[in-house]
Amino acid sequence: MTERDTRIDIALTASAPAAAGDGARVPTAAGSNGRNLFDLSRVELEDFFEQTLGEKRYRAHQVMKWIHHRYVTDFGQMTDLGKALRGKLEAHAHVHAPSVVFDKASEDGTHKWLLGMDAKNAIETVYIPDKGRGTLCVSSQVGCALNCQFCSTATQGFNRNLTTAEIIGQVWVAARHLGNVPHQQRKLTNVVMMGMGEPLANFDNVVRAMSIMRDDLGYGLANKRVTLSTAGMVPQIDKLGELSDVSLAVSLHAPVDELRSELVPLNKKYPIDVLMDACVRYALRKPGTSVTFEYTLMKGVNDQPQHARDLVRLMKAFDRAVQMKGAAKINLIPFNPFPGTRFERPSDAAIRGFQKLLNEAGMIAPVRRTRGDDIDAACGQLKGQVADRTRRQADFRRRLDTQGVDDAA
Ligand code: SF4
Repeated sequence: MTERDTRIDIALTASAPAAAGDGARVPTAAGSNGRNLFDLSRVELEDFFEQTLGEKRYRAHQVMKWIHHRYVTDFGQMTDLGKALRGKLEAHAHVHAPSVVFDKASEDGTHKWLLGMDAKNAIETVYIPDKGRGTLCVSSQVGCALNCQFCSTATQGFNRNLTTAEIIGQVWVAARHLGNVPHQQRKLTNVVMMGMGEPLANFDNVVRAMSIMRDDLGYGLANKRVTLSTAGMVPQIDKLGELSDVSLAVSLHAPVDELRSELVPLNKKYPIDVLMDACVRYALRKPGTSVTFEYTLMKGVNDQPQHARDLVRLMKAFDRAVQMKGAAKINLIPFNPFPGTRFERPSDAAIRGFQKLLNEAGMIAPVRRTRGDDIDAACGQLKGQVADRTRRQADFRRRLDTQGVDDAA
């Protein structure tokens, strides 16, 4: 999703290409063998140990802790594994994280990484600290095929799905940089699948990665602290509800079909009433479940009083359907302009006016805070930087051309 507004005040410029944020070198696939263990959930890793390595299943737990808790990727440094097992692992597996092409830090602790996924593709991952929490925004695809009209990612089209390793690798890179220690020293408390791409269009890899995020042997995040944001892929919302229990966010952006179909073309396939029914089913699986509806405010497009009234009607219908007041949570996101867009951000007064109408109708509707204007760090804008001919993109391309992603890390 592109709506998240995380523009940040950058205190440091792009780091030298030779180092990740903490100066440590990120492992590469060069010379490695077999399965990338980042690709495997706990059960799959246990199967791998039993079936491929002929080892006890619990050995997989030791390796998961080395990788996700201690950020060790060299089997030779996994000192509680016997020499014979380390040899087998070296012959049949490797642990390969995305390469850090460059990273940036803000004075308020916000941090952004440009991560190379292969020789031609890169994505951005952003860490946003806030009162008592640290949220990582993670991408699921390189580009996106859904073509939402206000999204800069859409302008670059769809390149490919990310693998599970490339998704969980974003968490690993950030957690390692932050010195995060699951269960003890949590710097990373929340993950939102709101980066580049439609997560439900890469269902299996995303669900597997989210299982590692929530696994005690992975990052130990509670279900509600992992949020998946979708433009509204209805069959996959139902499937997600069968397999997972993460928080659900829906990119709504318009309360009526005519406008939403214009902004989010997927709405033509799954109109609002069909989408809302799927959200109700998701919420009804478990008492007390709420759903967040993201609403990017665009000047003169969806920010008028009638839009607010229609939005209230929709949200109240959702609350009634799940029999819980406040089950529908609204997140207002002022549009963050990017080069070439036809949309504009409403004035602060217009944003406050829209919010007031929602509040007067009893809805809680926070306005997502802007974290600075000197860098385009909102998801869509981040993504756009990979494709746009901006100074940073030119710099990135130059590095790819001259050094390759892996060498640039
Ligand atoms: S085009 Fe894709 S990434 Fe952009 S808002 Fe739509 S679903 Fe999200």
